[in-house]
Parts: sequence; structure tokens; C-alpha cells
Amino acid sequence: MRRLNRSKFSPWVMACACLIVLDASAQLVERGQSAYQIYASPSATKTEHYAATILQDYVARISGCTLPIVQILGDQKKLIYVGFQDVPPSLLGDLDPAAFGEEEYIIQQTGPALLIAGGQPRGTLYGVIGLLRDHFGCRWYTRDVVKVPQSGTLRLEGLPDRQAPAFAYREPWYREAYDTDFAVLNRINPSGVPLPEDRGGSFIMYPFVHTFNMLVPVDTYFAGHPEYFSLVKGKRLGLHNGSQLCLTNPDVLRIATDTVLRWIAEHPEADVFSIDQNDGYGACECPNCAAIDEAEGSRSGTILNFVNQIAGVVAKQHPNVRLQTLAYAYSEVPPKTIRPRPNVTIRMCHYEYCQAHAIGQCEEHRPFVERLEGWSKITDSITIWDYYTNFRHYLIPYPNLASVIAHPRFYAERNCIGLFAQGNNVRTQGGGEFSALRAWVFAQLMWNPWQDGRALIDEFVENVYGPAAPFIAIYLQEAETAVQAKDQRFSIFASLDQMTYLTPEFLTRADALFQEAEAAAQQDPALLKRVELAHLPIHYARLQFYAVGGTAYLSKEAAPPVLAAFKRILAEHQIKQFGEQQGEEAIAELIANVERGPSFVTDWWIIGPFDNTDRAGFDTVYPPETEFDTAKTYPGLGTEPLAWRRYTPGRTAYIDLLPLMTSSESGVAYAGRTFEVEQDTDLKVALGSNDGVKLWLNGALLLSSKASRTARPGDDVVTLPLKQGSNTVLLKIDQIGGGWGFYFSAEP
Ligand SMILES: [Zn+2]
Ligand SMILES: [Zn+2]
Repeated sequence: MRRLNRSKFSPWVMACACLIVLDASAQLVERGQSAYQIYASPSATKTEHYAATILQDYVARISGCTLPIVQILGDQKKLIYVGFQDVPPSLLGDLDPAAFGEEEYIIQQTGPALLIAGGQPRGTLYGVIGLLRDHFGCRWYTRDVVKVPQSGTLRLEGLPDRQAPAFAYREPWYREAYDTDFAVLNRINPSGVPLPEDRGGSFIMYPFVHTFNMLVPVDTYFAGHPEYFSLVKGKRLGLHNGSQLCLTNPDVLRIATDTVLRWIAEHPEADVFSIDQNDGYGACECPNCAAIDEAEGSRSGTILNFVNQIAGVVAKQHPNVRLQTLAYAYSEVPPKTIRPRPNVTIRMCHYEYCQAHAIGQCEEHRPFVERLEGWSKITDSITIWDYYTNFRHYLIPYPNLASVIAHPRFYAERNCIGLFAQGNNVRTQGGGEFSALRAWVFAQLMWNPWQDGRALIDEFVENVYGPAAPFIAIYLQEAETAVQAKDQRFSIFASLDQMTYLTPEFLTRADALFQEAEAAAQQDPALLKRVELAHLPIHYARLQFYAVGGTAYLSKEAAPPVLAAFKRILAEHQIKQFGEQQGEEAIAELIANVERGPSFVTDWWIIGPFDNTDRAGFDTVYPPETEFDTAKTYPGLGTEPLAWRRYTPGRTAYIDLLPLMTSSESGVAYAGRTFEVEQDTDLKVALGSNDGVKLWLNGALLLSSKASRTARPGDDVVTLPLKQGSNTVLLKIDQIGGGWGFYFSAEP
């Protein structure tokens, strides 16, 4: 069992307390020749033997000189010891191998001998990678783009070099991060897909997250014991998500404790065990739970009280085992008096805050900052779960690199010990917008957040995009500028309309930059493929807007080649998912919507809101249903009589009723217009509504759909038998919270 171990020293100071008199520098290889051998003890771990092989491999790739790996100590003086085993006391000096953290290492030289060694399990491996990275200039930018400088002479300076990562747990949730070589060489230790033991393994959380339902499963217990589950508005909820446990029920504590003890027995590889609230809300409101939460000023009160009791039992039986629990959504505020036991880690989530600006750049993050500081006063064991993508649109241009480079340092300065950066990862297929760039920059900053993040981005762009780099650098800069204004605000669930920086002008300009980038990459097919992948989000955004009537983004003539490029790039990179729940169906739907080229109707008369208490308004006959006269006014929800207004279309064909209505939580609104036809005609129309919709043609009800949904074009399709002359179409759209509006399109 390994401990969650935060190093207690600043890893970035090269000098170490135990200075040894050294040669000015070690000459490892001179003009392609070397007398050095690599020593890996027979008692070294598999990971350390692997470290010796990558040292040999990369020294050969850099210098052309292959250093032999030996496992027997002779009288050879020019040795590179990989690992602490068998190191002579004269080389160790004052070093105490047992004092090294599990990922901490030292590179030092005594006389001609060199030592690269660290704690178990990953210190020595990270030392070799640190040597290759920091001293020889190697980089592993993507799965395909690796930088190996070429030099026949390798000299080592700046020793001793002792380092440890800022965060004990480092997981950027991007596709590249789950490639074994990329992860190992960039020194991240993801739990989502653990690295093989012989490559150092990973920091393992078991289970990963949201574990209440695993501790006390709804399916097993709800029927017989509804009282085990959360009481919400007087009802016990038995959902997998959206309900929680009754955390003051002694049977729940007993069952959960038994489950945790079983996990510990079955998973000796785990670094920490998760006792986490389910996703969603629904905390228990029973008198016992409510009493604790009220006294503690937070729902975290019952959670921590519960976790601490399990931790007490665990501490007696397994003194080195750690538990963790979430401070997430309803439990973000720290409790007033309860303190996490020493074997409990808090996993705090920076959930649903402004994504346009980094922490420190806008006021919206203030509550989170205050809560984090509150937690940090009561524990020095906080892991952060942060969010860096749009969950609905992994491919959308998402200019939040300012957060990517600022947040790791912010967290490190508050003594956080782990960082999970939830990005646009799709495990086995495709990636999201600038997935590789984000994975690499995060990996570097999770090791050392005090590096210059801007310089890292520039370095990546320059090395990965080569001659196309200048155009991509300009694009990234302009994208960031587009969201800097104070009024920019979007969330991790933002819809197209909420990402106001995605103007037609912005995307047209971006498209031109990527076209120049592609032109610059023409001579290099592999580079061209990478540039096209970077271009993909621009195609995606333009097509998404076009599909919902954003004709300023793409004309009917311009759409087909963009769609063709989009489909080709998707296929070449095997991208089959572009959102948390947007799989191949969503891709097919987007493509179908673009190909269909629907003709949206956006000129409507609008009136509302009328009352919709308890959703009764949906079936209440208000005056617009009996007469369509845009000159009339009627009493409605507001203090003034309601009048018909002409709708002014926005960037898309979505008719957004929300800004027009005095009530945002509840109501019904009407939209009406006439269609003139020269002869009797059947007109097929598609509707998307948020929430429910009714449609009348010339007073006859043709559609009634009491839905609760987000509007998507084509939710309902209905054929309108239009009569020669003027026809009145009336829509009724009801509101039960959230967005309020509709799409209306004539279908071919
Ligand atoms: Zn309860
Ligand atoms: Zn902001």
C-alpha cells in the first residue's frame, strides 16, 4: 500500500542540502564515443530496468553512441547507476534513499560516477526522464511528435538536480494521456486507465468517483429499506443518480464500512478509496441529516461525519490506507466544525464556474476560492477536480488556455496534492479540440506549475505545427482575445447560443487562418493531417450553426465542401464521439441536418407570458387560441397588458423567447404568422421546442406535445394541409424552467 505523500520541499531548487564536491561537469559522450556503462542492479525493480533501457535508447538516439547496460559491478569507474541499489557510500554521500518520496529523484555526480535514482515506485524512472527532458532537451509532444536533439557530445551540468512533482496525482483527461508512452514519458500517473506496473504504475483511486451507489446499491436495498436512501421533499428517492444515501442511518454506515473494508482487501494496488456522493443532487433532508448540515452550515457536514466514521474503523485495521470524498456541487462549502480525519482526503470540484476566464481573472470564481481556502484551513490533503471542456461539444473552439496555464499554479500554491483536469477525452476514439496540446501542457504544469505556461504553449505549437505554426499561434491568440471581455461567460454545458464569442466573423477569420496553415503544411502529409485536425473545430462550429439556421456562418453553397472536409477528417482520425453523451448518433444527426439544408422560418409574431402554474397553462385556452389579431392586447402574467411583438432573429433560427418574457421560470407564449399559397399544398414542417408545444393550422389543433426538453430542430414533424390563400399557423410554447424557445423549419 502506498501513501498519498506530499513532498515537503520545494522541488525546483536544484541545489540540495547534501552538496558533494563535483567535477565541473560530466562528459557522458564525446563525439559519439563514451566509456560509460549503465548499471541496473539485479535487485532493481522492473520499472528501474525499464528506466535503464530508455536511458540507453535515448542516449543512442541523441548521440549515436549505445551505452551498454550491465548488471555486474566490476572495477569500471565510469558508471551510471540507475536506482539506489548497490550504490557505494562514496557516491551516496549524505543521501538517504528511504527519505525519497515515491516520485522524487536525484541526478548527481561524484567523481566520474553518475547516480540517477529515486523513491519507489516511480522516482528512478522519472529521474531518467528528467535527465532526458531537462538536461538533453527531449520532448514527447504527442503520440507521434517527439523531439530528440542530435548531438555527438553529451555533457551534464547543473547537478545535483533533485526534483519531485508538485502534485502527487496528475491526470489530464485527454486522449493522449491514456497512451502509455505519452503518459510515462510526460510523467503523469492517470487513474482512469492505470499504467502498467513495469512502467511505474499509476496513482490509483478505487473506485474512480461517485460511489455511494456502489457502497449501498439502490437495486439491492431500496425495495426493502427505502430509509437507507435520501429523503427529499418528504419522499425517499431510489435513483442511481440524483438521490443519495441517508448518511445518519446506522445500517447505511455499517453496510458502507463493510463494503470499504472489502474493497481494501480486494484492491491492494489502490492508493486511495473513494467514498463519494452520487452525481446530481438529492441530499438527505431527514431530521438527523438536516440537524448536522444545519449546524455545520453545509451538506458537507453529514458527508464528512459519515466518511470520518468509516475512516476511524479503517485507521485501526489499515493505518496506511487513505479515503477520499468529494466537495462537489451541494457539498462544496466546508463544514464549520467537523474536520477530516488524517486519513481522509478532500476531492474538491471547481464545478460550474465561469469558463471564459481563469480563477483570478473574474469575480465569478470568488465563492470557489473562498471555499477552497476554507477547506485548506482544515486539511492539507486536497485533490482538485477541475473542468476544461464543453461537455456538449468536445470539438467546439473553447478558448480557455488561460485557465489551463493559471490553475495548476493556483492549486499548487494552496497546497493541493492532486489535479484531475477533466478535458475532452474520448477513450478509444477521436479526441476533442486541441486535445494533444492540452494534454501536453497540463502534463508539464502538473509536474512543475511554476513553469511559463505561455512558453509551453508556444513551444508545442512551434514544434508540432512547424511551418504552419505562425497561423495557429495567431488563431489561438485571437480566440483568447475573443473571450477576454468581462461580459463573456459560458459554462461547461454551454449551448451554441451561449458561446457568444463564436460569431460568424470570428469563425470566418479562423477558417482563413487554418487554410493558410494547411497551405504551409502541404509538403508534409503527416503535418498536414495534424493541421487538419486542428482545423476540425472550426468546421464543426460552422456546421453546427448552419444546421440550426445560422446562414451568416455558411451559405447553402459554401456548406457542402465544409461538410465534405469535416466528414473526411472525422474518418481519418476515427472521431466517433464529440461530447460527453454525443456519440455517433449525434454526428449522424448533425450531418443529416446539414445535408437536409432545412429552411427555417424566423419571422413570427410573439405574445406572452400567460400563466402556467403547475403546467395548467398548457391546456388553458387563452385568447390567442380563439383569434389571431396582432392588434389586440390581453391580460397576462405581467402588470401591463400583453401585446403581440414581431420577433427579431438572432444568430441562428432558434426563436429565443426567454429574453422577451417577464417570467423565466413558468409561463406559456404564443407565436403566430400566416402562410400564403397559390393553391392547396401539403407543407411538411419540423418543430423543436423547449419545453412543450401545440400547433394549430387555421384553428385546428394538429400537434400537441407536452415535452420537457431542450429544443432540437426536427423534434416533431407534422404535415400542414395549406389551403389556397392565407393560412394561420399558431404555436403555443410552454415553459417549466431553463431555456424557452423553438425552431420551426419547412422540410423538403
Ligand atoms: Zn438522512
Ligand atoms: Zn468570467
